[in-house]
Amino acid sequence: MRVLISGGGIGGPALALALHRAGIDVRTFEAHPGPAASLGSHLGLAPNGLAALHALGAGEDVIARSAFPSDTIEFTNGRGRVLGRLSDGSTAQGEHLRTRTITRGRLQTVLADAAARAGVPVAYGKRLVSHTDHGDHVTVAFADGGTARGDVLIGADGIHSPVRRTMDPAAPRPAYTGLLNLGGSLPAGLLPATPEGTTRMVFGRRAFLGHQTGGGTTLWFVNLPHPDPAPAEPAGGWQRHVLDRFADDDPAIAAALAHADPAAFTPTGIHDIASLPRWSRGRVGLLGDAAHAMAPSSGQGASQALEDALVLASCLRDIDDPVHALSTYEHLRRDRVERVVAIGRRQGSLKLARNPVTAFLRDLALPLVFKAVARTDPHREVFAHRIDPDRPVRPAGVRG
Ligand SMILES: Cc1cc2nc3c(=O)[nH]c(=O)nc-3n(C[C@H](O)[C@H](O)[C@H](O)COP(=O)(O)OP(=O)(O)OC[C@H]3O[C@@H](n4cnc5c(N)ncnc54)[C@H](O)[C@@H]3O)c2cc1C
Repeated sequence: MRVLISGGGIGGPALALALHRAGIDVRTFEAHPGPAASLGSHLGLAPNGLAALHALGAGEDVIARSAFPSDTIEFTNGRGRVLGRLSDGSTAQGEHLRTRTITRGRLQTVLADAAARAGVPVAYGKRLVSHTDHGDHVTVAFADGGTARGDVLIGADGIHSPVRRTMDPAAPRPAYTGLLNLGGSLPAGLLPATPEGTTRMVFGRRAFLGHQTGGGTTLWFVNLPHPDPAPAEPAGGWQRHVLDRFADDDPAIAAALAHADPAAFTPTGIHDIASLPRWSRGRVGLLGDAAHAMAPSSGQGASQALEDALVLASCLRDIDDPVHALSTYEHLRRDRVERVVAIGRRQGSLKLARNPVTAFLRDLALPLVFKAVARTDPHREVFAHRIDPDRPVRPAGVRG
């Protein structure tokens, strides 16, 4: 069997590694000319995602190249008053499973390097423009005029997945969450230092800031409530606009962000996909954000794509009919990822206070919210999930 993967982001090379491990022939195609090292900021890898990386043989490399552990979140208001602190408990599981922050570019590069070392390299500059399911095989065409043929096509091509658009034109579009996201890095010392392993989340009066310092660098991101997912640049530019949004908060915030690279102030609308009617049709399937995009507040986008890769590879290894393999994969994954998408939505909604009155009421309520969350932490079950790639899979959830 030969599997074609469109998308060499996070899920694509992870699936290539998992399929190679399962003895399946695989070809991965990425639209960009190389790993997008400078695109995107950073993301979290939780114990479940790290466990998946270890199963793929890439865990140690990722830990060596990640920025820092980030197992604790400290929430403050814009004036620095601590509203709550939540630890995810991952320190108890040892350094190899302790939640970490890594830049997306580095994670993508480590996975692409591991795939190349395994003999299943990502082919770059290959933008898929169309695909056809012929019933007994699939073919794809690229923007450069090339084509490829395989037994299965997996769209690991991100939230705006071109494979999904063709596979299921009626699928709901990604939904805008009401928040814009932007971020980058700063020299350490400009923002107040964070304790070891701790990300500080600042509920400012009119915007939200996350930051953590380690190894001489501060990684930061900002979320702005905004009605438009792709707004025009405001007068004075985005950096000026963001500084203004923090004008009622600790002056250190605006002062620090004034030193950030202006290129970091390029907001993108945060979207998610609560539920797709189907993750596959015939010999074509979806993985990662293409199947179930989630808000960054979930801290699980990369981890869930990595889990998908392990489960899908086992299904394609153990179930002869690729159509049944794809519906079994969906059956095994759907409930879990949809729960995680919902968690991300709920957490993001806390950042949506649009004026000082709602921000004041939110600051009063948040300490109670954190106490309740600490008691019934929904993340515990998400983090504890482990996938054994050697466990045999039987067909399930097969569509008639
Ligand atoms: C440029 C970029 C920056 C990001 N930055 C962040 C961030 O800062 N923080 C965060 O939490 N998450 C970020 N994400 C999202 C995060 O990477 C994903 O949520 C998560 O890792 C799931 O990975 P994925 O492989 O499913 O999707 P993605 O990581 O989105 O990868 C999809 C890949 O498919 C490729 N692709 C798209 N269309 C085609 C096509 N027609 N042909 C071939 N290839 C195609 C894309 O170029 C991309 O490399 C970013 C994603 C991208 C693409």
